[in-house]
Amino acid sequence: MRKRVYIVYTGGTIGMRRTKDGYQPDSGSLQAQMAEMPELRHASMPSYDIHEYRPLLDSSNMTPREWIAIARDIEAQYERYDGFVVLHGTDTMAYTASALPFLLGGLRKPVIITGSQIPLCEIRNDARENLITSLMLAASYAIPEVCLYFGGKLLRGCRATKVSADGFAAFDSPNFPPLGTVGIDIDVNWDLVRKPRGAAKLDVPELARPVVSALRLFPGISPELVRNVLRPPLQGLVLEAYGVGNGPDQDAAFLDVLADAAARGVVIVDCTQCLEGSVDLGEYAAGSALARAGVVSGFDLTAEAALAKLYYLFGRGYKPERVKKEMQKDLRGELTLRA
Ligand code: ASP
Repeated sequence: MRKRVYIVYTGGTIGMRRTKDGYQPDSGSLQAQMAEMPELRHASMPSYDIHEYRPLLDSSNMTPREWIAIARDIEAQYERYDGFVVLHGTDTMAYTASALPFLLGGLRKPVIITGSQIPLCEIRNDARENLITSLMLAASYAIPEVCLYFGGKLLRGCRATKVSADGFAAFDSPNFPPLGTVGIDIDVNWDLVRKPRGAAKLDVPELARPVVSALRLFPGISPELVRNVLRPPLQGLVLEAYGVGNGPDQDAAFLDVLADAAARGVVIVDCTQCLEGSVDLGEYAAGSALARAGVVSGFDLTAEAALAKLYYLFGRGYKPERVKKEMQKDLRGELTLRA
């Protein structure tokens, strides 16, 4: 029996067409091109159904509403298919790949998010390989995780980040090894793949619409700006700090603004601006001052995963104390807890 894959087609370069304003999503054209690809009719390939979203989006227009729509869509089709491929723009792919693991509780089938830097309609493109390999992974590799496949790397979704604006190797997961690499062979590192946990049923929770945000520190950032960001109704903030999580500890007004917000119940999560490595708030005075102000460590979470996790936890209606606790735990393989 041929395996069956459900393709969630949200938009992105992969299916775009050239217009006078640059590349734009174009309804139906991806399906027409896929129908012309003999490789997709090969006996070793799965059969597939495509659900095209209306409107197709450049992923720069994605919001958490779309994350939830994708999760609900997968939930509705879950029993009918062996695996799922989400076609998505690369710009915010790492955010969606970070959010879906939290939204798809109890996942036991592969969900592979992919896209491309050059559309399928162009002669030279990376779309063809990303698409074919993602379909194979979703159909025939029992990886019960949300993954991002791109440019020969299979990454855990909630560890992935976009590292190149124009290269074919556009994604990486600097704080976690790839779950697989694709060259002559498809090599999955099964030791790294998470075992399914919890109830055998897929569980997509009802979520409220929390207010969370992200702020990148820069030299000279004013306490006023930080105060404005932290104003109600904000519930959670990803603070992208320097190095191992440091900030300007000589600026008392800056620290006061943070302490004031933390005391009101705003959960402020410290992530590093560095591509690689972990926050350690105890290493420098410039970090421990933030901890004293009530900022919590995001360890080696990517900023994308920290934002998605905050959204999920507050979305579930958890109180700030619970959110802080859960932020310090590894829920879906998103962070490394030191022994
Ligand atoms: N702007 C496009 C998008 O994110 C870029 C891409 O798909 O590569 O939808």
